[in-house]
Amino acid sequence: MPSITPIPALTDNYIWLVASKYNAVVVDPADAAPVLRVLQEKNLHLQQIWITHEHQDHIAGIAELKQHFPDVVVYGASNIELVDKVLGEGGHFIWQNNVIEVWKTTGHTEHHLSYLLNISGCLNVFCGDTLFSAGCGRAFTQRPEWLFASLQRFNTLPENTLFYPAHEYTESNLHFAKKVEPQNEFIQAAINTLSIPSLPTTLLRERQINPFLRTNKFSVHQAAENFSGSTLVDEEAVFVALREWKNQG
Ligand SMILES: [Zn+2]
Repeated sequence: MPSITPIPALTDNYIWLVASKYNAVVVDPADAAPVLRVLQEKNLHLQQIWITHEHQDHIAGIAELKQHFPDVVVYGASNIELVDKVLGEGGHFIWQNNVIEVWKTTGHTEHHLSYLLNISGCLNVFCGDTLFSAGCGRAFTQRPEWLFASLQRFNTLPENTLFYPAHEYTESNLHFAKKVEPQNEFIQAAINTLSIPSLPTTLLRERQINPFLRTNKFSVHQAAENFSGSTLVDEEAVFVALREWKNQG
């Protein structure tokens, strides 16, 4: 059964390592050096690289990893130069007898992808900069409603689904979440018991602490209206207001 562990990189990135006995995948290699170190320590051969989106802190290590592992196959969207196998919505491919399903989770960037790996009936989602624990990515597309739709889609998955975001932003996200919902006991408990790494997280937990997945709650709706100073007609409008609030905070 594959194991999934974080390789810390840069200041707050996680490069997720998926490893079987002798072979490995890395997701969003921000930097080659820490990946090479871990692969050597664990005596693993790098077979695949999965890229969620084109930002430098997700792709900067690809070229050097390709030099060390000339047969590595890089998966990602069409707008990334070093990708070998171009993927989009509904794409799928195989690693070590596992089928990986690809969702286009647009919003942070237009071509952002997420990778869904089923291990023994539990879904593991590499979601890049779409969902963070207690937060979500910035909408660089200027279309926060796209990001809302991507998060809503995640919210349809089973509650034991594990999410593997690319950044350790949980602490600052929790402080924002507390501003939105000062009375939410799950958020306070998460602050009190925070440990690093705080990831992966589960959908169940995010439904309890993540304001961006709680747009259907009265408390969140009211806080977003107080921030925006206007009536918010639906969950999407609440989400857009929350994203704006977080951008300013
Ligand atoms: Zn990004």
